[in-house]
Amino acid sequence: MATLLKGKPVVDHMAVDLRSRIEALKSRGVEPTLALVRMGERPDDLSYERTAKKRAASLGLATKPYVLDDLAPQAAVQATLQSINYDKTVHGCLMFRPLPSFLDEKALCNMLSPEKDIDGISLASLASVFTDSSDGFPPCTAQACVEILDFYKIPLVGRHVVVIGRSLVVGKPAAMMLDRENATVTLCNSRTQSLPDVCREADVVVVAMGRMGFIGAEHLRAGQVVVDVGIHVNEEGKLCGDVRFGEAEPVVEAITPVPGGVGTVTTSVLVSHVVEAAEKAASE
Ligand code: NAP
Repeated sequence: MATLLKGKPVVDHMAVDLRSRIEALKSRGVEPTLALVRMGERPDDLSYERTAKKRAASLGLATKPYVLDDLAPQAAVQATLQSINYDKTVHGCLMFRPLPSFLDEKALCNMLSPEKDIDGISLASLASVFTDSSDGFPPCTAQACVEILDFYKIPLVGRHVVVIGRSLVVGKPAAMMLDRENATVTLCNSRTQSLPDVCREADVVVVAMGRMGFIGAEHLRAGQVVVDVGIHVNEEGKLCGDVRFGEAEPVVEAITPVPGGVGTVTTSVLVSHVVEAAEKAASE
C-alpha cells in the first residue's frame, strides 16, 4: 500500500502562513486582490473559477472578475489586460485559457505585467523560471508538484526524476524547478522511446501528459514516488488522472491521488503568488 500524498495537509500548512500575511497586508491598508479574466462560459473555466474564488475567500483574498464575451476581439482583451496592468488595487491576474482560437493568445499573455503574472504565462515569467531568477512567478501547477514533494520531504537531491510531458504550463517548468532542487531530470515527450523502461529507472515520476490512465503497472516499480498531474472525467463521470491509480498504488511507495492531489494545491499556490505580488507592490 502506497502512502497517499494528499493535497489537503499541504494546503492546510500553507493556509496558516497565507492567512497571517494577508492579515498583515490588510492592517497596512492593502487589500490583496486577484483579477480573474474569463471569456465566455466554458465549463472547465467556470469550474476553475469557482475553485479559485472559494480558496481565495477562505484565506481572506479578494477576487475581481472580468468577464468578456467569447467573441470579444483582440483589442477588447488587450484593453482589459491593460486596465489590470494599470490598476494599483489589483495585484495578480489569472486569465483562463485556452483563449478562443481567433485570438493571438501568445501576444495577450505577453502583455501582462510580469509583476502581476501570477500564473507564469508570459515569456518574461517563464524566462525567470528557466534562469533561476526570483523576478517572476512560475506556473502554479508546476510549483504545486514541487510543493507536494517538499511538504512530504521526498528527497530530490541527486535523485532521478522523470517528468512526462513538456508543456510550458506544467512539464517544462516543473522539470526546471526540479533541476533547481538538484534532482537529475529526464523530460519525456510523445516521441520518447521505451517510456515504460525510462519511467522504471526513475526515483520520482511526474506525470503531466493529458492522457487518461496512460501510466500503469508496466511503467512503475517498488520504491517510486508518483505525482499525477492529469485531470480527466472518466466514463462514470468520476475525476481521474494520467495514472491508473488502482495498478500504481499497490506497487509504488507514494502517490498523489486524483482528485485531492496536485489540483488541490494549485489554487493555494495561486493565492501565495498574489500575496507575494501584493507584498512586493506594498514595499515599493
Ligand atoms: P498538454 O499541453 O496537452 O501537454 C501534454 C504533454 O504530454 C506534451 O508535451 C506531450 O508530448 C506529452 N505526451 C503526450 N502523450 C505522450 C506519450 N505517449 N508519451 C510521452 N509524452 C506524451 O497538457 P498540459 O497542459 O501540460 O496538461 C497535462 C495534464 O495536466 C492534463 O491532464 C491537464 O488536464 C492536467 N492539468 C492539471 C492541472 C492541475 O492543477 N492539477 C493544471 C493544468 C493541467 P508532445 O509535446 O510531444 O506532444
